[in-house]
Amino acid sequence: MTILNCSAVTCIYNKDQLCSRGEIEVMGHDARVSDETSCGSFRDRNSASVTNSEKESCGCEKIRIDCKAHECTYNEHCKCTASAIDINGQNAGTSKETKCKTFACKC
Ligand code: SF4
Repeated sequence: MTILNCSAVTCIYNKDQLCSRGEIEVMGHDARVSDETSCGSFRDRNSASVTNSEKESCGCEKIRIDCKAHECTYNEHCKCTASAIDINGQNAGTSKETKCKTFACKC
């Protein structure tokens, strides 16, 4: 599994720059640059329906990543094979304002 550092601290799953979701989906079907990718699992902390279990879960260093960015060097059959990745999105309010900074195009 991949080590995930995530700067999208406005996401409900972010705990001290780690993700508590267990697995995430990275979007970017036609991405050729990092800016065209995004974390599809991002959920705004200020959205109305946040359950207690979401508030209380812990961040994990390693995470399973289902990735749609097929053009990335690290993508093998929709799984991320990088040992560690960075998701950026410090002031993100939506999924589209996040990105996988580790994306490296095969193109
Ligand atoms: S490094 Fe590449 S394969 Fe891994 S999550 Fe980022 S875009 Fe997807």
